Amino acid sequence: MLIYNDGKIDILSLLPNELEEQLLALGEKKFRAKQIFNWLHVKRVQSFDDMTNLSVQLRNLLKEKFCLKSLFIAKRLESNTDNTVKYLYRLNDGNHIESVIMEYSYGNTICVSTQVGCKMGCRFCASTIAGYKRSLTASEILLQIYESERDSGRKISGVVLMGIGEPLDNFENVVDFLRLLSDENGTNMSLRHVSVSTCGIVPRIYELAELKLGITLSISLHASNNQARSEIMPINDRYDINELLTACRHYFKVTGRRISFEYALIDGHNDSRKDAEELADLLKNFVCHVNIIPVNKIKERNYRSDRKSANRFRQYLEDLGINATVRRTLGADIDAACGQLRREYEI
Ligand code: SAH
Repeated sequence: MLIYNDGKIDILSLLPNELEEQLLALGEKKFRAKQIFNWLHVKRVQSFDDMTNLSVQLRNLLKEKFCLKSLFIAKRLESNTDNTVKYLYRLNDGNHIESVIMEYSYGNTICVSTQVGCKMGCRFCASTIAGYKRSLTASEILLQIYESERDSGRKISGVVLMGIGEPLDNFENVVDFLRLLSDENGTNMSLRHVSVSTCGIVPRIYELAELKLGITLSISLHASNNQARSEIMPINDRYDINELLTACRHYFKVTGRRISFEYALIDGHNDSRKDAEELADLLKNFVCHVNIIPVNKIKERNYRSDRKSANRFRQYLEDLGINATVRRTLGADIDAACGQLRREYEI
């Protein structure tokens, strides 16, 4: 998809075939598109002038037609308890987003944002509090990886779309991002190492299934009945648990990929044995995994939970034959844990 910024095309968001079309239209040969793609996505240059195997004339032409977006590090916070690093990035238009690098035994994973703010209004999530501004372009999602790798010197081997925003509310740009990230002439990341998390925009789950991208789909379920889910997630009034799980079954049937269900545990709301039984009933016959997250406190809300309740709930589920783990909390000292990302730096 073409994105224009001040009349210029956002070159980093172009898929290889789109870049080729653009270059052909400028009277250039096909192979130039490959060279440029390599400069952008492998060497990751930050200016057209760095593309030294192109003539000065062509570089000038590129500058006229295209823009090369960048991210500025407004703040970097490093955890004292683990190797988590949180970046606050300023976008070219002055908006801010956050990304977090987390270290696991198998490598570094980055949690990226997909929108500036979020419209979904989940009650326990800090990303939603300042409201929604806009969706990110594919390039702005990619640049979170490029810039974080550059700054930290750490190689990133996995990506989770679990930062600020609802990925499936920015469907086209997210899909372009996934195609660019996995392009064999670019970063060439296997999409098996990428998780897309959604609060449950059902029609988009069907669309995503058809694309057979190989990603892991994470569903933010967080409750085992419609009443409890609607109380904390407004999206449930639009697409209820039954519709959501039907879409998930379809997704598994088409892609063969096991689904991961996220369950933010809230004391007194969704943590009883009865809740576990209801959840086990919903998920029976599902090839899935439940990830229990003790809800992280955000200052605007009174929700709480702890590791003890999470372990107890996990045990309930295990006893009922459901595969479950308790999510490790990383970067808690720098507000980098799930749902704590927020934008309060806008000038
Ligand atoms: N919009 C997407 C992705 C962003 S949030 C989604 O809803 O899935 C990533 C995960 O963190 C989601 O499962 C979300 O529900 C969860 N989350 C948000 N706030 C949280 C909090 N305070 N404590 C624990 N998990 C939270």
